[in-house]
Amino acid sequence: MKTCPRCNESSDDQFDSCWKCSGPLPAGNGLPAPSHSASPVRPRKRAAFKIFRGVFITWEGLCSEAAEFASTVGPQNLITISHSEDQGDGVITVWFWTDAV
Ligand SMILES: [Zn+2]
Repeated sequence: MKTCPRCNESSDDQFDSCWKCSGPLPAGNGLPAPSHSASPVRPRKRAAFKIFRGVFITWEGLCSEAAEFASTVGPQNLITISHSEDQGDGVITVWFWTDAV
């Protein structure tokens, strides 16, 4: 049995709302939860990255490309920006959070 928090009337566990005042009843009572509440829908984030390579571009151009992209990602989703250089070949990696599919 569930007890209505609003009017203290008792309802069977199968009901989601009070038969008397139609107020919402608390979910579960130490009993197995009904199947419809088993999987809460929650937006999840996953890490992703975008690589900018500078074979035909200067560091300046490469950085502004990465900066442009980082701006579209937004500060709340930006993890970090790393860069390295290998024999004049510049690489900038922008790490960011994206919505999981
Ligand atoms: Zn009630």
